[in-house]
Amino acid sequence: MKLRNIGRPDTDPNYRYKMPVLTVKNEGRGNGVRTVFPNLVDVAKALKVDPKYVLKYFGIELGAHSEVKNDRYLVTGTVTAKQMNDILDKFIAQFIICPNCRDPEIRWEVGSNTFEVDCAACGYHAPLKVQHKLYDFILKNPPGGAKPKGGQKKAKKGRKDESKEEGEDAVLEVKQKELEVDDEWSVDTSEEAQRQRRLEEFAERKVSDKSAPVDMKEKATPTTMLRAFIKEKQRDVRDVLAELRRIQLARSLDETQKIRLLLEALCETPKEAAATIEKNARLLAQFTQDSLSQKAFLAAFEEFVITQQNFMPYVPHMLQAFYNAEPQVLDEDAILMWADSSISLVGGKEREKQAKLVRQKAEPFVEWLKNAEEEEEDD
Ligand SMILES: [Zn+2]
Repeated sequence: MKLRNIGRPDTDPNYRYKMPVLTVKNEGRGNGVRTVFPNLVDVAKALKVDPKYVLKYFGIELGAHSEVKNDRYLVTGTVTAKQMNDILDKFIAQFIICPNCRDPEIRWEVGSNTFEVDCAACGYHAPLKVQHKLYDFILKNPPGGAKPKGGQKKAKKGRKDESKEEGEDAVLEVKQKELEVDDEWSVDTSEEAQRQRRLEEFAERKVSDKSAPVDMKEKATPTTMLRAFIKEKQRDVRDVLAELRRIQLARSLDETQKIRLLLEALCETPKEAAATIEKNARLLAQFTQDSLSQKAFLAAFEEFVITQQNFMPYVPHMLQAFYNAEPQVLDEDAILMWADSSISLVGGKEREKQAKLVRQKAEPFVEWLKNAEEEEEDD
């Protein structure tokens, strides 16, 4: 993989902030011509930014329609790699580099009507002074899917107005909705019920675990709670299982939801997912002791990827990690059976499409698995 310095000329090979060179692929012909950015997710990860903002920036700069389609990031029209890397540099200069120390270490802090940056390298903290349409887009679509507090209606109205002049906003907005992590785990998802459950959970937690961090009040979702629990200190498998069980009871999760929750809590970023799986193999293998439980585990995995679309490209890597892990989490039979299994029609057309997509993504690994013996000799 070719690397470049972030926000600096490539003359300094020892510069510590690197990112992959953005690749572009032109596709289609005639009116359907478009440009795909196959490694935008990796580039965005190096920049510690949601790829949707980078794509949006591209669209604005090019005056083109931008879209995420089947987790492929694309714009209409033809552009060259050089052109796109120049635009990317401009984006980095405006939104990624600290205005004070020039390191790519700023974190965005987006409020209902404020956009400040906080630099981890030098401590610089100030409103971001950038005049760009993306700035407004970020204000209306803050990171993490969080809606700005208050003024929400206003923001929505503003968004509607803007989409009239821009067009592509509507598409991105829909896409973003699909990408949003759904926290509706429980049967009763009314706000009051959720609040009540949270309260119960807190009462429970206070008694059972005095050391638990208190800063989980507002945003506590099953995933963030479990993740915080796991990260807090070295936990052994039994501890995590007990906590998982506790959340399962508090939220009335079924087995699939429980395993999905565990995967979500463990796998924070798509790129590190495979390594995370191998690292936590002993824990994960607790759920896959026989062929039936492996089947259930794969159903949960499928659900996880469908709700966390950014993991979609990493389906083969993750499956491979389940397979390679020590102890093994999923065996060959289970994976092949899942890959060939018919798709449930219960969830409707969209669900069916997504389930097909997961299997399609899995193909490289499944093929490899089928030919594993021959491949070993080639290696
Ligand atoms: Zn700084």
